[in-house]
Amino acid sequence: MAQYELKTNNSEETSEFAERIAAHLQPGDVIALEGDLGAGKTTFTKGIAKGLDIKRTVNSPTFTIIKEYQGRLPLYHMDVYRVEDSLEDLGFDEYFEGHGVTVVEWAHVIKEQLPNELLTVYLYHHEGEQRTIVLIPKGRRYEQLCKEIFQ
Ligand code: ADP
Ligand code: MG
Repeated sequence: MAQYELKTNNSEETSEFAERIAAHLQPGDVIALEGDLGAGKTTFTKGIAKGLDIKRTVNSPTFTIIKEYQGRLPLYHMDVYRVEDSLEDLGFDEYFEGHGVTVVEWAHVIKEQLPNELLTVYLYHHEGEQRTIVLIPKGRRYEQLCKEIFQ
């Protein structure tokens, strides 16, 4: 299975990389973010938002679980860390099938509800400000997306 990797040295680099990805995103795209607390999932999401021309400040939706923003495409930002039952249905499907881009922090918490095809992004925390970002596409759409991003 193809996977793509990149190292960043500070939060700006992570954000800029996400912004670059955003330029290639289409309605209905789903990105699953995985990584420990402080790895940079929300930082990455802020970069996606910037790349989608979203002007409002994007904050972690830990307590609200889902936040929606308007830009070039709508952004549905989820943080499912606090979802206690992996089958709890908060209407996720309607977002995944919506006209916007969905970004899900801690996506594995609701793995049974995720679409079959998506882009998983793992953020690994190293010493200081270094992070390794690994992209794993599932499905043709996301394989194509990764090729576009890394070409
Ligand atoms: P998460 O959502 O995964 O818990 P956040 O994005 O909220 O993580 O927090 C990441 C923290 O780490 C921020 O304070 C950010 O400034 C800092 N940071 C330092 N280096 C990096 C990097 N290379 N990429 C992303 N964030 C970084
Ligand atoms: Mg977060």
